[in-house]
Amino acid sequence: MKALTYHGPGCRIWGEVPDPVVRVPEDAVVRVDAVTICGTDLHILKGDVPEVTDGRVLGHEAVGTVVETGQGVRTVADGDRVLVSCISACGRCAYCRRAVYGQCTGGGGWILGHRVDGTQAEYVRTPFADNSLYRLPDSVADESALLLADILPTAFEVGVRNGGVEPGDTVVIVGAGPIGLAAITTARLYSPARIIAVDLAASRLAAAKRVGADATVDAARADERTIRALTPDGLGADAAIEAVGTPETFELCTRVVRPGGRVANVGVHGRPATLHLEDLWGRNITITTGLVDTSSTPLLLDMLAGHRLDVADLVTHRFGLDEIQDAYEMFVEAGRHDALKVALFRT
Ligand SMILES: [Zn+2]
Ligand SMILES: [Zn+2]
Repeated sequence: MKALTYHGPGCRIWGEVPDPVVRVPEDAVVRVDAVTICGTDLHILKGDVPEVTDGRVLGHEAVGTVVETGQGVRTVADGDRVLVSCISACGRCAYCRRAVYGQCTGGGGWILGHRVDGTQAEYVRTPFADNSLYRLPDSVADESALLLADILPTAFEVGVRNGGVEPGDTVVIVGAGPIGLAAITTARLYSPARIIAVDLAASRLAAAKRVGADATVDAARADERTIRALTPDGLGADAAIEAVGTPETFELCTRVVRPGGRVANVGVHGRPATLHLEDLWGRNITITTGLVDTSSTPLLLDMLAGHRLDVADLVTHRFGLDEIQDAYEMFVEAGRHDALKVALFRT
């Protein structure tokens, strides 16, 4: 089959690799019908994720069709349309028993396109298939379901739920890329009084408005005072969600949150950020971090099927799977192309 493989920093190849097969009874093999590229894949290609070894097939988000199952797989069968989640779950370890699948110690967690071959391929072997694949209702299209493999549960669990968003809250979301926009979409499920989106790119701020932000702030021209002025009595946000992953954006969140508020970090950080305890100590601030568990995936899928979740604006570019190198070229310069999520389809 054809797959996109990693060969050290800056080097990716779209070429022939052996077909995946069921190796242990809990495995399934899925034909990939739709797949996307994640910011995390770009981190890997920069060499930031040293566990990813030479020849690894990248990708951890897909929608596909089951073509083979091991003898121990009970909940999916050949021909089933499934969501391949970014998180695999052994279902047996202490963390999986608490639905904290992201921290699985039994061989799951974030493994696809990381520690085992991933989804940017014609076929993918999915370990722990019973606990890691989700059967899709016919009413949910491949492209919408694809967004539930990573960005929707990540924004919802690590941003909105960790941030304790409640009805009537003022929510500041720093970063209006795919994760920030997914945070706006899922924060709205709780009826906050206002959502304020902050970004540097005008196109992303416009997208934030389209998915439901009440106000937007161009971070290049305005600072924390502008953001605070948009909150009730200028006190600050009840919840500030960090959806970029830089020291500056994290520190901005700690400055725009009100005393007693919550900062929920979603961004993937590669550098240390300063924790200004000299300012924060007396302000009763809660700061949370997290890797997604995807424990909310069944709920989000149900809401998508029931038309309670609108994700149509998040995919901006579409390609055939065999055009994946072009898709990467475009995604690397997402800002220049006004790109959010890219979807690639089986040809
Ligand atoms: Zn991802
Ligand atoms: Zn586990």
